[in-house]
Formats: sequence, C-alpha cells, structure tokens
Amino acid sequence: MDNILKLIFYTDMANKTFKGQIGVTTENIFPVIKQFLYSDHEIFLRELVANAVDASQKLRTLASNGEFKGELGELKVSIELDEKKKTLKVIDRGIGMTEEEVDKYINQIAFSSAGEFLEKYKDQNIIGHFGLGFYSAFMVARKVTIETLSWKEGAKAVKWTCDGSPEYSLTECKKEDRGTVITLDIDDESKEFAEKGKISQLLGKYCKFMPVPVVFGKKTEWKDGKSVETEEDNVINNIDPIWTKAPGELKEEDYKNFYKALYPFEEEPMFWIHLNVDYPFNLTGVLYFPKIKERMSIDKNKIQLYCNQMFVTDHVDNIVPDFLTLLHGVIDSPDIPLNVSRSYLQSDANVKKISTYITKKVADRLEEIYRDQRGDFEAKWDNIKLFIEYGMLSDEKFCERALNFALLKNTDGKFFGLEDYRKAIEPEQTDKDKKVVYLYATKPDEQYSWIEAARNKGYDVLLMDCEIDSHFVNLLESKLKDCRFARVDSDYVDALIPKEDKVKPEMSDDDKKTLETVFKAVLPEGNDYQVEAENLGENAAPVLITQSEFMRRYREMSAMGGGMNFYGELPQSYNIKVNMENPLIARIWEEKKADENADCPLLKQVVDLALLGNGMLKGKALADFIARSTELLK
Ligand code: ADP
Repeated sequence: MDNILKLIFYTDMANKTFKGQIGVTTENIFPVIKQFLYSDHEIFLRELVANAVDASQKLRTLASNGEFKGELGELKVSIELDEKKKTLKVIDRGIGMTEEEVDKYINQIAFSSAGEFLEKYKDQNIIGHFGLGFYSAFMVARKVTIETLSWKEGAKAVKWTCDGSPEYSLTECKKEDRGTVITLDIDDESKEFAEKGKISQLLGKYCKFMPVPVVFGKKTEWKDGKSVETEEDNVINNIDPIWTKAPGELKEEDYKNFYKALYPFEEEPMFWIHLNVDYPFNLTGVLYFPKIKERMSIDKNKIQLYCNQMFVTDHVDNIVPDFLTLLHGVIDSPDIPLNVSRSYLQSDANVKKISTYITKKVADRLEEIYRDQRGDFEAKWDNIKLFIEYGMLSDEKFCERALNFALLKNTDGKFFGLEDYRKAIEPEQTDKDKKVVYLYATKPDEQYSWIEAARNKGYDVLLMDCEIDSHFVNLLESKLKDCRFARVDSDYVDALIPKEDKVKPEMSDDDKKTLETVFKAVLPEGNDYQVEAENLGENAAPVLITQSEFMRRYREMSAMGGGMNFYGELPQSYNIKVNMENPLIARIWEEKKADENADCPLLKQVVDLALLGNGMLKGKALADFIARSTELLK
C-alpha cells in the first residue's frame, strides 16, 4: 500500500478539460472504502453536510473580519433529492473552491495517503467514523460531481467529476451562485439513500443541531384532508441548541423542552446538569437524570456525543464512566479524539480529564440539590437511588462525594442523610463491641414480623430493596466507621442485647443441651441448623429463626455476580433460637422431661409456626401443620 502514485496529469488544452489520477495506490481505492466502512455507509451524509456547514461558517468569518465584502445572503445548506433520477444534492452558499483548491483539497489532500487511510479505518471500532470526509460519498454513489464557485474575486466556476475509478475530470463550468453543489448519483446497491424517508431520518440523526440551517424540501401542511407543500423551507435543524447557551439565559422550561425534543417518548427528567467548561479542555452539554421506571430496564446509550454540534455517536462508553451512561443528554466537545479506536479512548489524557470533570459536576449538582431542595431530593430519591448507589459502587471518587448526599430510607418511608441516621440510631443500636448495628429489610412483606419485633425493641429498620443493595450494604459497611449491617431476620439479636442484661438461664447446661436436641429432631431436613436455647423474654416468640448475615449476603452476592460460585451449592444455614422464657417452651420441656419419647404436638406446632413465619413451610409439612392445628383446636 506504500506504493502510492503521484498525481499523473495530462492536459487536454483543446477543450480545457483536465484529466488526472487521484493520488492513491495503483489499485482502486473505492471498493476498499465500501468494504471497510460497510456498516456505516450512512455517515456520508453527515460528512457532506458538515463540509457545507463548514464552508458557510468560513464565509461568515471572512465577512466579519472584512475580507469578504460581498453579499452574504442567506447562508443555508439545502439537500435536494430526486427520487426518480436517484440523485442527491448537497448545496451550500459558502466559500466555494477555485480550480487550484479543488486540485489541492480534493485530488491531493483527501487521498494523499491511501495507506494512512486504510490504517486509520481498518479498525471498525473507530468512534463514529468521524472526519472520513468527502470521499465517503463513494460509499453510496457511483458518480460524484462537484460544481463550485469560489468567493474570491474573478474566480471561475469549476466542475469535478469522478465515477468511482481513480480517474477524475476537471473542467470549467457555468455557475452563477457562489458556493458548492455536490451531486451524488446513488448507485443501485445503495438505493435506499435515494428515498425521502431515509434521507429525512439521517438528517434527523446526524444534522439535528448543526450550526447553519439545513433545508430539506418544503414544509407541508394539512389542507382538505391531505398534506400539501407550502412555500416555507423545511429546516430540519436547531442551530442553537441549549447546550450552546449560557445557563443564565435558560429557564426550566427550556431544559424540559429540549429533553422532550431528544426523547419524545420519555417521561419528564428528574434533574439536569449544564456542563460548560473551556479550560483545560472544551466541553459543553446538558445531562439529565431520567425517571427510571423499571429498575432493570434502564436504557444505556442515551447520551449523544457531538463535536461542534455535529453528531458523532450515541455510544459514549469509554468517554464517561460506566455509571454515568445511565444518564441522558448531550455532550459536545471538540477535544475528544475521534479518529481513534474506542479502546484507545480510555487511556487518552484528555478523555480522562473530561470523565473526571463530568463525574465531579454530577456530584456537585446532586450535593447542591441535597442541600438546597431536600424535599425534592427525597421525593425523587427512589428514582435516582439506583444510579447513585451504582455510581458509588463503581467509582471511588464519586463514592467519596456521594457519602455526603446519599440517603437512607427506613421502613416507615422516612429519609435520613448518613450522618443523621447514625446519630439517630446510635443510642439504641450499639452492640457490645461498640459497633452501631444498621438493621435493614429487603422484602418488607415477607419480613414483616421481624420488622415489628425490631420496632418493638425500639430499633429502626432501613429499607434495602434494590437489586444492588447487598453490594451497597457491603460498601457502606466498609465506608462508615464502626458499624455493621444486619438484615432484620439475621442473627443480630444476640449482639444487640448486652450479655450482662440477659437473664441467666434457669436451666442447667445439660438440660439446655437436651432441649436443643429435642428441637433439632423435628426440624425439616436439607438445611443446616444451629439450635440454641436462650432467654429472650416472656413476650418474645417461642422459636425464632435467624440467618447468618454473612452467609446470606455472601450467597446473594455470588448469585448476582454469576460465574464462579463455589458456595452456591451450600445448604442454607439457619440459627434456631428456643426461647426458654416463653411459657410454651416451659410446657414442652415439662412434657419431654416426663417422657422423652412423647409425641408432643405442641413442639411440632411451635417449630412449624416459626417456619411458617419465615415462609419455610411447604408441601406435606404445611398440610401436616394445618391438620395438626385443626386437631389442637378441637
Ligand atoms: P475535511 O473536511 O476533513 O478536511 P474532506 O475530504 O471532507 O476533509 O474535504 C477536504 C477539503 O475539501 C475540505 O477541507 C475543504 O477545504 C474542501 N471542501 C470540501 N467540501 C467543500 C465545500 N462544500 N465547500 C468548500 N470546500 C469544501
């Protein structure tokens, strides 16, 4: 591929037509373009419109600095489609090109090195295939024509044509208007690009916010029950979208309307963040917190990346941290390298800075809302909780910040900041090792009796019912000082009641052992049990079942993590506490003491009641329980 031919010209002086060979390899480059960029053919339109927009803006600059003194006229880019002839024109009134410029920019520069081109684009994962340029037109056209008249005084209009072979022709032509017309003769394989609907869709996708009006046909209106064309241009873009404006100029409505325009089918966003920085890199944008309807169906890839108002991609992974891809909105930065592979992005210094900046801005904004609009923050918490917890779990820096504004919600629906919550529960819920015990429920309906029991003791119970909460609980345990988290049905009970307060058992150790064995004998098979006789108070249930917090959490996390799961096969392990102070236990003990082999339906009944309370009584065991209950009631 290094074997690049220099431009070979020959001049046909008689009809003033130049013929030449484009500076590429001996092989024809065009099939290669098609092959390499197969999946992204449609970006040709962005490239051509971008060039036209560029040419228009350059003229505006020349006018404003006085170099261009002529009539600017209406600077717009028009797209004209002839569905029958299968031609597509991109027309601008920009600076145009002289003959020398066509030669320099189109013939030489664009393809100065085919090798370089292939090197650059062989990686299909190039971000947005950005800046592929004029030659991308050959992905969809069998012939491309440029007719152009430069703004420069005395310039002559020229016409350049190329039919997809490395040969082109360049002649003078008739063109009154300043600017450039690019005409594509769409080839048969690409005929979808000669359809109005397709072009409309692509303009909507790639050109929606370009900074010069882009016109596609005329506006239509309903008249006498049918749609008719009006005189008015159909401008498909918004040339000054809100991210290009100063936050001070904008009202709440503007942000909401912009969101509606971007995502017509979404509900109103929760909050938004206006990004605006010009040093040490350039970045503008607006990020929205979407309303998360169903937690598991969160749309990623809703952030659109632009470069100077030109759409690049909606896959911003590797540019923003993973948890931020849950946000929606727009980022516009000319400082994100685009002609690189996606995997390279992560290691790029600018991208790292940008990612850090966005994370910081998001944290700043959330902290601000936490501080200044606490009621609003609490009201929206359920919708943003997953995002914040996920962010805390996946991004160390964000986590440090979020510890200042993360909320805890208890089973009464009350919200607390982390500091406040600790202060609130510290007096009642500190265990013998001076650790503050945070109690939580994951399924309030199923854990109802446990929640009640904890409340009756004066404890508070948090609600942790989100998919990632078992991970989040782990995280909090490691971030908050001297604390531990225990699900409300776990073995915390023991730890929270100081040893010295426990009433001394009135049973001898031997009797206690016997009582434990008696209970163990009637427990259902298949699980692992630690039975312990304890004094838990006269009013507490006769039998309590708890789970080891550690084992349960471990099991949940490895189930969520998937993959290697060594512990998945372990039997469930439960602690069975037999409350010696409960009068029913005393009766059972009396019966058993009198006759070790007595059937003792009461024993089975209290055990079954405990199992039932934990949703562990099923099938035959449940039927037996019902039959026995009826019997006992007689
Ligand atoms: P790029 O736009 O990345 O420089 P292109 O291959 O798209 O590469 O275009 C090459 C050059 O051709 C441009 O830099 C510009 O100078 C010139 N050009 C292309 N399209 C136009 C146009 N519509 N009007 C004026 N000049 C153009």
